[in-house]
Amino acid sequence: MRLTWYLTEKTHAELMSQTPEAESIAALVELHRGLERKGPGDPDYSRYILSTLNPALWPSPPRIADMGCGSGAGALLLAQHFQSRVRAVDLSSVFMDELKVRAQQKGLEHLIVPILGDMAQLNWPARSVDLIWSEGAAYNLGFEQFLLTWRSPLANHGWAIISELSWFTEHPPERAIAYWQMAYPAMGHESENCQRAQRAGYRVHATHRLPSLAWWNHYYEPLRERVQSIDVTSPNPFNNQSDNLLNHPSISPSAIQLVIHELEAEMALFEQCSDSYGYTFYVLQAS
Ligand code: SAH
Repeated sequence: MRLTWYLTEKTHAELMSQTPEAESIAALVELHRGLERKGPGDPDYSRYILSTLNPALWPSPPRIADMGCGSGAGALLLAQHFQSRVRAVDLSSVFMDELKVRAQQKGLEHLIVPILGDMAQLNWPARSVDLIWSEGAAYNLGFEQFLLTWRSPLANHGWAIISELSWFTEHPPERAIAYWQMAYPAMGHESENCQRAQRAGYRVHATHRLPSLAWWNHYYEPLRERVQSIDVTSPNPFNNQSDNLLNHPSISPSAIQLVIHELEAEMALFEQCSDSYGYTFYVLQAS
């Protein structure tokens, strides 16, 4: 999860422009290129959550969508788990291309329907999805807005399993409050998010906190390695990404350094304050 994904609601055309914002998104995308996950999560933990739900709940085959799928961490797991088609939606063409390659490598391409687009603008028909899954991406619309947007396309008694950055305690450390007030001001306490879900037309079936170790093992550590492999002073810091350099605005060393600095600040905060916030999976059912 990165605060700057917050900005990726921009259209592709805007991303092509040479604003500092576009540059920092391009740098962020490049820093995440090749990583399996673009935000915290853990395949074993996802499987555990799915195992808590009675298989008899699902129609056969269930109609599944992964919103803000990145390169498919959730979508591929769901396709494998349900042996069912998964519509995988993301705004980034770089991540979509990675998803297609990974689906092929896993022999799952027949089950993955890649959709390059804005999850706020899809207008899918009412009751056309049985399970909406989204990890580390709903906040791009705001948790409640995301749930409202996807309530109508959800089938009667359909499920939404959404991970959302949440406060675990009523009194988090000041530095955590200061950081997240800037990075994600709408971040809610778990109880507040449950209320938001109910207001948006869902019953809260369960909540599960992603263990903090999963952040390190599956996201921050691979990201740190990637960051360390980059020579910011090089004219082509991301190495043999020539096609990318043609497609993206050029990314200045200072923009890369700024994004790396932000990522390091986020990791340092999590190192000290992971008791007070983290990702909670909200297992919700359309009510
Ligand atoms: N679920 C993935 C990616 C999480 S990062 C994983 O866990 O690895 C958040 C993702 O949301 C990014 O891939 C970003 O491109 C995508 N995103 C951000 N805003 C979006 C929007 N409005 N519509 C679709 N995808 C969006």
